[in-house]
Amino acid sequence: MAAARTARAAIGAARVSGSVAALAAPGSRRATRTWIARYGDWLRAHGALIRAVQWIVVAIYAFLIIVPALSPLPGNDAHALDNLTIFAQWAFWGVWWPFVILSMFVAGRTWCGVFCPEGTLTEAASRFGLHRAVPRWMKWGGWPFVAFALTTVFGQLVSVYQYAQAAMLVLGGSTLAAIVVGFVYGREKRVWCRHLCPVNGVFAVLARVAPVHYRVDREAWARNAGHVAIHPVNCAPLVRIRRMTGAADCHMCGRCSGHLDAVEMAWRPASREVAALQADDASAWDAMLIVFGMIGLAIGAFHWNASPWFVQLKLAAAGFVIDHGPQWLLQDNAPWWLLTHYPAANDVFTWLDGLLIASYIVATGAVVAAAVWASLWVAARPYAQPSTPSRLQHARKLACALVPLAGLGVFLGLSSLTVTLARAEGLATGAVPLLRAVVLAIGALWSLRLAWLQLADVPQPSQRWTSFCAFAFGVALVAAAWSILFFHWSR
Ligand code: SF4
Repeated sequence: MAAARTARAAIGAARVSGSVAALAAPGSRRATRTWIARYGDWLRAHGALIRAVQWIVVAIYAFLIIVPALSPLPGNDAHALDNLTIFAQWAFWGVWWPFVILSMFVAGRTWCGVFCPEGTLTEAASRFGLHRAVPRWMKWGGWPFVAFALTTVFGQLVSVYQYAQAAMLVLGGSTLAAIVVGFVYGREKRVWCRHLCPVNGVFAVLARVAPVHYRVDREAWARNAGHVAIHPVNCAPLVRIRRMTGAADCHMCGRCSGHLDAVEMAWRPASREVAALQADDASAWDAMLIVFGMIGLAIGAFHWNASPWFVQLKLAAAGFVIDHGPQWLLQDNAPWWLLTHYPAANDVFTWLDGLLIASYIVATGAVVAAAVWASLWVAARPYAQPSTPSRLQHARKLACALVPLAGLGVFLGLSSLTVTLARAEGLATGAVPLLRAVVLAIGALWSLRLAWLQLADVPQPSQRWTSFCAFAFGVALVAAAWSILFFHWSR
């Protein structure tokens, strides 16, 4: 009788956990889980704690977004510890963005699943909202690129890194959109994160080179699915867990850890996912995002402010407009939510400024992307045979090998504000050039290694080396573009 009661208790426990874990005998697969798999289990078991952390992050985020935007502009002698606006600038642009980018290389999209305030809010809204099905237009694969490109250019036009009002507009606007999308679409899901978030695409490609992921054992899944009472896992970013083979879409929330004794958090070689990518699976939009977005547009967005070429362009354009019109281009009456407009800080953009900044960023992006794409196209030459997958698919696949360089370039660009803020606080920044060189070198070497691995299927060694050299030329171009900024224009 007692034994039967014990067995019933064990079955009940298994049902509660939604896995066969509680039925596993000592010495089973569950008993030998690695510490990182147990960390995944811990995340699943402590959902309430994770949610509490998420709401604390939401509260801090809302406070730092709203209060500085309603406060007067800080004086020239304001510091992070005595001025909330400067503190918020540190929090958002000095720490949050650069190091969230960096965290993707280490922990995948843990930021998204465990901390992100937008994810928390959109999922909460989706719990109480209209629960509509995700419309087809929202599933368009180009949104990650388009949203990233628009946000990057618009952010520069309103000086998002410099002013709290602009930060509230860009970050707060994105958060508001996340809440609305969550309220209308999905049920306890993160439809916004999956389809429309401006950094979803960037995080997804970066997570592909993370050394951790949730590994799915399909055989164990199939074996256990029919034998235990299954409690469905609520995967908020809508990942098809059973078929999950990569880390791009997974928010590392841990909710599926241990599910059917078939899912667990695990280490993997950081290069494996990109190196093993099949050419057929290489997405055109991912390639566009990496080459034109994370490399081209990002370089343009961080270049213009320090570029002597931009100054020359501006002088020439202003002279032309003064002589030939139209004169309205020289007016500075654009609202702050369209173009930078802070007369009290002597920082006001004319319409011409706005036009030139947007044009400079897009033109730089186009030139850099065209040069990098040309190198990828040449590198994909061995695949020019009349066979499938095509040379184009292989060029897209090679674009994915640029992820480390592209991601670390974005990190360096964003962290340049960290350096500026640190200098304003009187902190020592003497080691920054060396650190930048090291990070850039890591990105370049890592990308080269990925390309070399991807080119392993080129039959002739001479062809493989030729392709590799073409790819290396693209890497050198990107490294040179960042180097001009960091080691020449703004030392
Ligand atoms: S697959 Fe979904 S439920 Fe599982 S860890 Fe990733 S985001 Fe969470």
